[in-house]
Amino acid sequence: MRACHECDWLVALPPLRAGHKADCPRCGHTLAQRHYKPAQRSLALALAALVALGIAAGFPFVGFGYSGIENRIELAQTATGLIRFDQLPVAIVVALTIMVLPALYLLGVIWLQIGLLRGSPLPASRDIARSLSHLHPWMMTDVFIIGALVSLIKIAGLAEISLGISFWSFCAFAVLLLATTQTIDSDWMWFSLVGEPLAPENSHTGTTAAEQGLSGCPTCGLVNRLDTRKPRCRRCGERLHDRLPHSLQRTWALLFAAALLYLPANLYPIMITTKLGNSSPSTIIGGVVQLWQIGSYPVATVIFIASILVPVGKLLALGWLCIAAKRSAGYHSTIRTRLYHLTEFIGRWSMVDIFVVAILAALIRAGALMSVSPGPAALPFAGVVVLTMLAAFTFDPRLLWKPSSPVKEAHHV
Ligand SMILES: [Zn+2]
Ligand SMILES: [Zn+2]
Repeated sequence: MRACHECDWLVALPPLRAGHKADCPRCGHTLAQRHYKPAQRSLALALAALVALGIAAGFPFVGFGYSGIENRIELAQTATGLIRFDQLPVAIVVALTIMVLPALYLLGVIWLQIGLLRGSPLPASRDIARSLSHLHPWMMTDVFIIGALVSLIKIAGLAEISLGISFWSFCAFAVLLLATTQTIDSDWMWFSLVGEPLAPENSHTGTTAAEQGLSGCPTCGLVNRLDTRKPRCRRCGERLHDRLPHSLQRTWALLFAAALLYLPANLYPIMITTKLGNSSPSTIIGGVVQLWQIGSYPVATVIFIASILVPVGKLLALGWLCIAAKRSAGYHSTIRTRLYHLTEFIGRWSMVDIFVVAILAALIRAGALMSVSPGPAALPFAGVVVLTMLAAFTFDPRLLWKPSSPVKEAHHV
């Protein structure tokens, strides 16, 4: 028995075999998916990813040469380099999203799968398994690679660039990390860790969980009865809510804060480039215009989409979804849920510009000859990205659906 995370519909799942996938009959959201040998597969991928990260951290990342001055940086310097410019909070965000959180995630996966392969879970497995799903959206290695490519294209015409072993290793790491997250079968993992407690008595399919006083666990999927004041999942211990508390108010507050930060993020320069003694600050929009003028149309487009279109689109889309959830829940629910998913998925890509600034500031250090430093907009812009991501997580997509509507109706929408 599962309650759909999106629309709260209660569904009874048949036993699934490897390669099978179960979708929600009302909204089409994937409820569970089985893989072949899930434990061995994710263990192997996680180990390989961790080795690639180790290599990426230990060797030079990229080097640059300009008029006889050479500079090579390591991966970690893209974060620590920012501290020199008093950008500690941004440095922490960069270090967490590209190295620390992915490393913790991989160690967690390895710990869990070793326990499962041995047949008896290692200590703290339940807490680790619960944390993994919370870590997931904050890992941004793929975004960092795009940031690295954009940085290299930006300076390719000005200086000599050499890619180190670490660069290629980091690319491998990002791919392996993505593959690891894809093979994690949380449904199977929770079943193997703790088993599957019986569904609550008198629960039946064909209505929403909330109508029956039930709630599907957001982490392990188990259906629980909401009978105590502060209910927790019987299987994984996660807090349960029939709907996230004050979801709309929280989302509004975070959106409002993000919109406020969006002003300084665009009005102040995000990057200051010094060349032959002349400093030229550039704002986010200014950077896009510059790239366009020198003919780097694809990069200009990428930065425009990631730094301008995505944050603004996200603010508008989430704001509209909040209004829609309150005014007209139950209409166009499928399309609205898709829009919500899109905002949840694309939000992290706005970090590209922050990574570009981090890489260039660490790499280009030839004093008055040529150097790059982060501008005052870096912190508010990173704030916008983090706040809009949080706003998307506090929004409860179940609010877009009517408490109960027949399956047929959903197909017509
Ligand atoms: Zn559903
Ligand atoms: Zn649970």
